[in-house]
Amino acid sequence: MTDNILLHVGIDDTDSNEGMCTTYLTHIIIKQLKKHDIILLDYPRLIRLNPFARYKTRGNGALSFKVELENRDEVELVEKIVLENVEKYSMFDGVNTNPGVIFYEGEITQEMKDYAIGAIYSIYSISYAEEFAKKIGARVHKFKKGRGIIGSIASISIDLPDETFECLAYRKSENIGTKRQLDQESIYLMNEKTYPETFDNIDIEGNYTAIEPHTPCPVLYGIRGNTAEIVEKAHKMVKSFEEIEDYCIFRTNQHTDMHIQENIPIHDMQENSCYKVKCEVTEEPHDIEGGHVFFKVSDNTGTLECAAFEPTKTFRNTVRKLRMGDEIILYGGLNENHTFNIEKFQLTSVAPQYRLINPLCSCGKRMKSAGKNKGYKCPKCGNKIRSSEKVKELINRDIVEGFYEVPTEARRHLSKPIVRMKE
Ligand code: ATP
Repeated sequence: MTDNILLHVGIDDTDSNEGMCTTYLTHIIIKQLKKHDIILLDYPRLIRLNPFARYKTRGNGALSFKVELENRDEVELVEKIVLENVEKYSMFDGVNTNPGVIFYEGEITQEMKDYAIGAIYSIYSISYAEEFAKKIGARVHKFKKGRGIIGSIASISIDLPDETFECLAYRKSENIGTKRQLDQESIYLMNEKTYPETFDNIDIEGNYTAIEPHTPCPVLYGIRGNTAEIVEKAHKMVKSFEEIEDYCIFRTNQHTDMHIQENIPIHDMQENSCYKVKCEVTEEPHDIEGGHVFFKVSDNTGTLECAAFEPTKTFRNTVRKLRMGDEIILYGGLNENHTFNIEKFQLTSVAPQYRLINPLCSCGKRMKSAGKNKGYKCPKCGNKIRSSEKVKELINRDIVEGFYEVPTEARRHLSKPIVRMKE
């Protein structure tokens, strides 16, 4: 029996499009705690929440970590260090930057786990999160509107039945905002040696490396993989021409499909939520302005308008091959315009497609029309038939049963790549 205090710390919404990254802020805090001999009990957590959250900066990530402390003085010290750094480094000028910090002592309860799943499946208000924090006895710190408390509570609370890891390498402060200087060849080599235990290092066609962000944030690159060991090993294989300030490994729910709700029929789907649904193509794909591809599917409860949007690039070519009657299992999310944004699909049954053509003559030659309602005539042997009926010819379908997914660059943080699917 120990009287030690288990303290969970959640931090969210400190960055903006102009800079910073809550992972980096968390990393700074962890380093300062270390100086006081306060060591994390586990890897810090980077938890992705509802991809439809309106005020997200990029990927709706919330950070957290836990420490075991001996006395109240240590609790006070941790809280002081966390709050000082959030005040110092948050991008308070960002219109949508509303930091929120949560401190919670003790074990994570079932209702907290349920809250966290709800923050992935649905949209919460700040007041709901604040009420919830009060109910569980957490200490809440709101900066500006304090929206970050929504994600902070979810980050400390979420259960991780499936998980991945990300190793984030950070830049020296003087380099932030300049072009990232990485040895591209070393990234291809790292991918060769560690894929598929690491993934999303290179774009699907192998044209470019995908580990670098394109924002003026402190992250030099991030490597995602199935274990902490593999992402660290992969990180050590990447050569950088600029000095790496430090790196930090996060335990995450990225690429686990944790956002996907199953067994919900089309009729019951809610906007701003993500689903897996078994259905049939009932309207063929067509392009609309802006390069988006739309089509419709149905199950026995309703019809859904689906889209492969322009940023999904080559994935749209696959979607364009779908035809009426094809049976598919779709994965994706219903946006606020009630359009289902596809992340991937499994084609489970390819419907035979036919075209109507003139019949063949007994001599083997394709017959020609002999005039309106006058049947057919063979251009080779002159043979005639009276019937004007066409015959069906099976069209060769240029797609086979299997999984198809959007390219790396268009993949949502939560979306499980096919290479991680074990079905
Ligand atoms: P980055 O990926 O660069 O860290 P971000 O995309 O994570 O940025 P945040 O700055 O964290 O964006 O902003 C997301 C905001 O949305 C946070 O305030 C978070 O608390 C809030 N949020 C998270 N989940 C939900 C939800 N389910 N409903 C409503 N708000 C949410």
